[in-house]
Amino acid sequence: MLNRRLSEFGTTIFAEMSALAVRTGAINLGQGFPDTDGPEEVREAAVRALRDGRGNQYPPGPGIPELREAVAAHQAHWYGHLGLSYDPEREVLITAGATEAIAAALLALVEPGDEVIALEPYYDSYAASIAMAGGTRVPVTLRPRAAEAESEAESEAEPDADSGGGGGAYRLDLDELRDAVTDRTRLILLNTPHNPTGTVLTRDELAAIAELCVERDLLAVTDEVYEHLVFEGAHLPLASFPGMRERTVTIGSAGKTFSFTGWKVGWVTAAPELVTAVRSAKQYLTYVSAGPFQYAVAEALRLPDSYFTGLRDDLRAKRDLLAKGLTAAGFTVFRPAGTYFITTDIRPLGAGSGIDFCLALPERCGVVAVPTQVFYDHQSEGAPFVRFAFCKRADVLEEAAARLAGLTTP
Ligand SMILES: *Cc1c(COP(=O)(O)O)cnc(C)c1O
Repeated sequence: MLNRRLSEFGTTIFAEMSALAVRTGAINLGQGFPDTDGPEEVREAAVRALRDGRGNQYPPGPGIPELREAVAAHQAHWYGHLGLSYDPEREVLITAGATEAIAAALLALVEPGDEVIALEPYYDSYAASIAMAGGTRVPVTLRPRAAEAESEAESEAEPDADSGGGGGAYRLDLDELRDAVTDRTRLILLNTPHNPTGTVLTRDELAAIAELCVERDLLAVTDEVYEHLVFEGAHLPLASFPGMRERTVTIGSAGKTFSFTGWKVGWVTAAPELVTAVRSAKQYLTYVSAGPFQYAVAEALRLPDSYFTGLRDDLRAKRDLLAKGLTAAGFTVFRPAGTYFITTDIRPLGAGSGIDFCLALPERCGVVAVPTQVFYDHQSEGAPFVRFAFCKRADVLEEAAARLAGLTTP
């Protein structure tokens, strides 16, 4: 029944693998949702808003003023030193999570037939959103750096302070990116820190992308939902690079930063014309959403820095815990520089197909993971890679590591 534009998109892999986890009672390291909720005071703020009757009826189309101001204050606080700031009235839009922001941005900015460049493996909604907008996706492949994956010592080296941090076990081929641009290219859809690879684009890579956008007059849509989960160095918004503020739609979300993925509160920051365009599409998708949660997220965005650095430190420790377990279990681990995902290569375990491996894993050892192959157009590039989420309690990660160790001890 599904129409031609969407015929290739059936059930998402997350629904399929989460159902498998429920059916087998396995530990679900497939879908990236935390197993503990975000800060108590933020939950209480949502309860208060609900009780006080704030947000129980349609909030304003662009989002409640308190939240737009908090988003602008958050951007100024974290990125003001890079010269980035936004007007809460005209340059901020609240959306139903980052997912709606991505869809609305593409629906608003892409003409049927336009080409959209995205880094593969993709976050799973990108391909479908590009298709809904009638665009043609043009993948540029991130590839593991073989040497780095094998040398823990090397990848643990402190990054050059001036690089702005970033890096990770995957590499972006800038020549390939330049070659992907044609006269039909409308925009680059970027994601940094990158899900599923955990790559954080470096200052040099972002500068090169910015130059390319300016030179070829491209728009950029950047999904920065993991902006606070960069383990070495600091997050650099693409919009802060020369010539980019006017051509970049930046997307953020409360889901990942505050561990409330069920609330679906996201936001767009961009120049007024871009925000107006995205809002035009957004108003016919959900119109508005999450009224009381908007008040709570407005408070969350003003939490002290210690909340954000605490979250990062906690997840860095969990990354190290799971990476150690996966390495001990025989996987090649691509150590992530950001996000809460680790990708691995299963070939040292004598397996070649991530899909077959993940379908069998719950029965074999009671763990669910996701094959990243499904996030590639060039599926053969991703065949042996499997993604594990580490946004789980330490005891859950320890138990998962123990179970995975059983893969090689018969
Ligand atoms: C989780 C995620 C999203 C979706 O965010 P929501 O706010 O839940 O819609 C978008 N992009 C990436 C890369 C993600 O990992």
